[in-house]
Amino acid sequence: MTRTMGFIAAAFAVALVQPALAEAPFDFDKAYGRLPKNVVPVDYSIAIVPDVSAKTFTGTETVSLQFREATGTVVFNTLNLTLKNVRVDGTPVKDVKNDNEAQLATVTLAAPAAAGTHTLTLSYSGVIESRPQGLFAQPYGKVGGGEAVLLSTQMESTDARRMFPCWDEPAFRATFKLTATVPAEWQTIGNMPVAKRVVHGKLATVTFERSPKMPSYLVEFTAGDLRELKDTSGKVHFGVWAVAGHEADGAAALANAKQILADYNEYFGYDFPLPKLDSIAIPGGFGGAMENWGAITYNDAVLLLSSGSSIGNAQGVYATMAHEMAHQWNGDLVTMGWWDDLWLNESFASWMAAKETDRRNPGWKWWEAQDAAKEAAMAPDSYASSHAIQVHVTDELQAANAFDPTITYNKGQAVLRMLEAYLGPDVFRDGVRRYMRARAFGNATTADLWIGLSAASKQDVGAIAAGWTEQAGLPLVSVAAECDAQGKRTVSLSQKRFLLEGGAGDTSHWSVPLQIRAGAATPATVLLTQQGQRIAAGACQEPLSANADAIGYYRVQYDAATLGTNTRAFGTLPDADRIAMLDDQWALVQARSAPLASYLALAEGMRTSVDSSAWQQINNSLGVIEYDERGTPGHDAFAAYARSVIKPVADRLGWDAKADETPDLQNLRRTVLQNLGVWGDAGVIAEARRRFAAFVKDRSAVAPDDQPMILTIVGLHADKATFEQLHRLAKASTDDSERRRLYVALAGVRDAGLGEEAAKIALDPEIPPQEIQLRLGMLGTLRAEHPQLAWNTFNNKAAELLSPFGNLAPLFEAQFVPTFFWNSLPLNEMEAWIKAHVPAEMGPQIQKGMDSARFQYTQKQELVPAADAYLAARGSHA
Ligand SMILES: [Zn+2]
Repeated sequence: MTRTMGFIAAAFAVALVQPALAEAPFDFDKAYGRLPKNVVPVDYSIAIVPDVSAKTFTGTETVSLQFREATGTVVFNTLNLTLKNVRVDGTPVKDVKNDNEAQLATVTLAAPAAAGTHTLTLSYSGVIESRPQGLFAQPYGKVGGGEAVLLSTQMESTDARRMFPCWDEPAFRATFKLTATVPAEWQTIGNMPVAKRVVHGKLATVTFERSPKMPSYLVEFTAGDLRELKDTSGKVHFGVWAVAGHEADGAAALANAKQILADYNEYFGYDFPLPKLDSIAIPGGFGGAMENWGAITYNDAVLLLSSGSSIGNAQGVYATMAHEMAHQWNGDLVTMGWWDDLWLNESFASWMAAKETDRRNPGWKWWEAQDAAKEAAMAPDSYASSHAIQVHVTDELQAANAFDPTITYNKGQAVLRMLEAYLGPDVFRDGVRRYMRARAFGNATTADLWIGLSAASKQDVGAIAAGWTEQAGLPLVSVAAECDAQGKRTVSLSQKRFLLEGGAGDTSHWSVPLQIRAGAATPATVLLTQQGQRIAAGACQEPLSANADAIGYYRVQYDAATLGTNTRAFGTLPDADRIAMLDDQWALVQARSAPLASYLALAEGMRTSVDSSAWQQINNSLGVIEYDERGTPGHDAFAAYARSVIKPVADRLGWDAKADETPDLQNLRRTVLQNLGVWGDAGVIAEARRRFAAFVKDRSAVAPDDQPMILTIVGLHADKATFEQLHRLAKASTDDSERRRLYVALAGVRDAGLGEEAAKIALDPEIPPQEIQLRLGMLGTLRAEHPQLAWNTFNNKAAELLSPFGNLAPLFEAQFVPTFFWNSLPLNEMEAWIKAHVPAEMGPQIQKGMDSARFQYTQKQELVPAADAYLAARGSHA
């Protein structure tokens, strides 16, 4: 068949494909939500006058409305706003019912109005929040001393209604024209460029250009004593904003923004439609980053880089920007119709960010590094309590709880990567472009994405993909090999749901896109749909990977003979194949489906290989066992064994980076040295102390990237004098990154009395008010050596410590508290604490968090005797 004929045949084929959609394409009338659809906003003009010292503001608003039918009532969202002078078409309305509990205002018109265009006008007053929800005030320490405040906004998911009355559901796209009156010396940033600025006395009134049609959760406004680094590239003005004195730290971000936007214009086949893109550094109290269209806000630690920043910091900045900028398309240009499909925003942005970060920074081996993110999803996804990527959100007030980072971000990213590999990158991109073109300036459901991908691939993508987004969990693929007389191998493949506990009777089934590599051959793509499916797979003496390049989101269990072949060849396998095998074998040990020895045999097979991600996995797993062994009679023997496994690679790498070394090798060196120090290698501890002494004399004696490793070892083993020295250095440090490292290091101290000191310091006002995440980081570190103390310290100040998370705080409490503090307090007390702190409807999240805590507790009971028995047997063989 000629290429042309194939093309025509394929074109016919697509007409025949009827995607098996579990949900329909986006339809405004059918989009879920609480607001009636009979009245829709077309354009908002909003003017606010903040009073920062009183923490209040006043506003006026004009909304141009389309009545899709005659009606006498108009319903929209408000929260903590007092409405006045409400008129429709200039006529005072009959009644305004403002229900703060329901976050709804119902306006009854003087007389029913006909279908068509109408105008709602009103004035109102509201509250400037001290947490990042709606319009909020962020205090910060100024460069050179003193405190100041800036204003910014955080609307997602449902807090625009705190700043202006609105149709605050994502399907209600409209244009926005914002005006604000602020101190004349302040700078102001909105979604669009400033159209007009009028100074009157000490104040300035700034009006921004009208935005394109967008959902209310993307509205942005920031104002304060800010400075800009700027440039223009193509048709777009780029600005990086920081509080005065920090603007120079935005240079890398400015370069990143230009590079990433150009790449995304190309990838999406749809140019960024706004005239400017600002990146705004909000001092530390604001958590994470937010993809407001044209005006992305970032926690300053994930946007700014100082001279003391490490490669790790730079990677965090690049990856975070790549994520938020991907949202300018996936989320902003095309928005999910309802929060059920949040993954269309978050999974896509996470996947795109990883792809872009990998492409532009090949030395970072970013996809391999992302393996840890995939594992972070696979672990909770292996409990029966896990949930699907697409979860039904019944009420937008619960939408924040759908931001489950492990599933919505990490699993979604991994599933998209698997799908991209299965369809082929060019076909996948073509599908994404079709989806963007079809839904630009509008909304979408998951079905719309499958339609784009199906059209590009001429396959029913929904039929393959829906199992991954609509079902919880992941499959375990069993591989059973048979050899014929010539030594040719045939494998029989089957699947069942992989669960760490239980699972009897679970009938989940997936279409699994496998990448199967025999020996050194190019991997074959196989879609596993049938139990006992058979394929030819090279020769029996060759190693076999059923998850080549670790692209798949599934686990693999090999039969004993194939596992033996793989173990013997382990040192020579491709890096990513190896990481998949380590992850899977460790998970099988955790699920009691394989002996610990089978995993340790793989780890020992690494010898002096310098596969950074594989070693990372081994260091983590050995670290789990060493931690569980602490305080038991077997601890010292296990620590010595763990050191012996990683020592050869540490010896090979030495202490100092070679000139041409890639960042991942440098990272590997730091990981193995740090663990040798933590696991008690006297030589490594002595050398770390020697280097720390040099650092005390001259801060440039230890590179920023090496500081966490050196400081962790020194901090853990610190005596009183060393602890006080760390504390003095932390207080005196003028570099934000360095200061954070020093504080975290002193919180890792093993000595009980000094641990008490560290807990006090974590809450002391000597740490600036915007640095709440540093306080949390210190308590997280303190937990390793002093679990109860860390918990008590956290518990006494929980509300304050969680304030930067805004409406994500309950999710943090339900899921992260149990994961972090599993050995800090009895688990029934922990469960009672969580239930007292989070809304009752978060039962599933609590269950998930508690499953993780219980699992870690049970795992300890099993790993310790298993490790002791392994070493005893090994000793008797030696
Ligand atoms: Zn995001």
